[in-house]
Formats: sequence, structure tokens, C-alpha cells
Amino acid sequence: MKNFAGKCVPRLIEDLLQSQSCRHKLMLKPDQSALPALDSRPDTLTYYKVASYCLECRSHVTVEVDYRFSQPEDPCPTHDRQLHHLLPDVTFWPTLEKEDQRQYVCSATACGAVVRTTVRPSRLSSQYLSLLTDPAHIASRVTLELNRDPERLKDHTVPEPIQVMKTLRTYLSDALKGGKRRFASSNKVFLTTLGPASNELLQFLGFRSENDVSRFVVTYRDKG
Ligand SMILES: [Zn+2]
Ligand SMILES: [Zn+2]
Repeated sequence: MKNFAGKCVPRLIEDLLQSQSCRHKLMLKPDQSALPALDSRPDTLTYYKVASYCLECRSHVTVEVDYRFSQPEDPCPTHDRQLHHLLPDVTFWPTLEKEDQRQYVCSATACGAVVRTTVRPSRLSSQYLSLLTDPAHIASRVTLELNRDPERLKDHTVPEPIQVMKTLRTYLSDALKGGKRRFASSNKVFLTTLGPASNELLQFLGFRSENDVSRFVVTYRDKG
């Protein structure tokens, strides 16, 4: 019956942080979170979300607190109930295969909080991670490009992994902010960081190659 034992929030967080293979070090994703305003009290429209990712294993960890389907008469914390005491929601059935999703309800019926935790594994495969972070992998593909066109790329050298990650981050944030959504695959920075070896990764992330009249470009499309 262990699975049916209730737990208070600190215990829930502690269990969430300790996975089988990693003691998560979580970083907040502010853009995807909906945090409570200071001293706010929940009502029937209240929905909070903390979205985060782990610096070590790149898992995505989300905690949601939802009052929209209950009638919170006297939500925690109160004088007698400083913390939610959460019971597993036996009616909840997770739908997403790769995610570890669990749902709890506060044992205080006057509270009505529904708490859902979701842990998603890293979206990048070890192959893609190696492409971005393995110095030997980066050196071999960039050296190839430098030798292919030494005159044009004479100001460039083999980059550190951090530079490769920064380039990808720039492309992604430019695309997601709706700014620059395309870049030429003959671009010097592209060739000497990601390069054509990263085409499959770029496609996985939502970029598409297309033929421009005079050059090959890579554009970003929102995934449907
Ligand atoms: Zn982790
Ligand atoms: Zn509660």
C-alpha cells in the first residue's frame, strides 16, 4: 500500500529530484512557467506551473498546481494546514508514453489543490549530444570544412563545444522569437560550428533545408 501513502510537498519535491540515474539540478524555464504572485490566494481560475530542466541529465521536470476543476473553499496554507498533504489521484491515467506523469490531490477537501508532476527525458539523443559537445567530433568535421575552403575560412579555427552550443542557441532563439528564421548553409559561422553534419539535428529541431535560387538555406518551421 506504499503507493497510496500521502506526502507533504517537501517530500514530493525531494522524491522528484532524485531519479534513478541523476540527482537533478533544476533550472527554471521562466517563459514556460506560470508562477503565483506574491501573497496571492487561489480561486477557481488558478493554475500555477513551474517548468524546469536538469543541468546534468537534461530531463524536463514540470510541477503544476491546478484549482480550476475544484471549488477551493479554504486552500492551504491555513493556520491548521501549513502545507498541502497530497494523496495519489487514483483516477488519473497518464497518456504520454515517454513521460513519467503523476497526479495528486490535497487530502484537505476544503483545499481542492490538484498537483501534477511530469518528468520528460532529454529530447536530444546521445548521438546529437555528441555532435554538439564532443571535441573530437567537432574537430573532425570543422577541420574538413577548413581544408575544403582554406582561403574563405582562414579567420576560423576549430571551436570549443560552448561555441557550437551558442551558435545553435542563437539560431533557435532567433527562429522562436520570429526574427531571423533562415540562414544560408554556406554561412561561415554555420560551417565552422554545426556544419552539414548537423542537418539531421536541425531538422529534428524544426529547421528545414530548401533551395533558394542561388544558395542553399535552412529555414525554421513551427512544428504542427
Ligand atoms: Zn537530472
Ligand atoms: Zn492543500
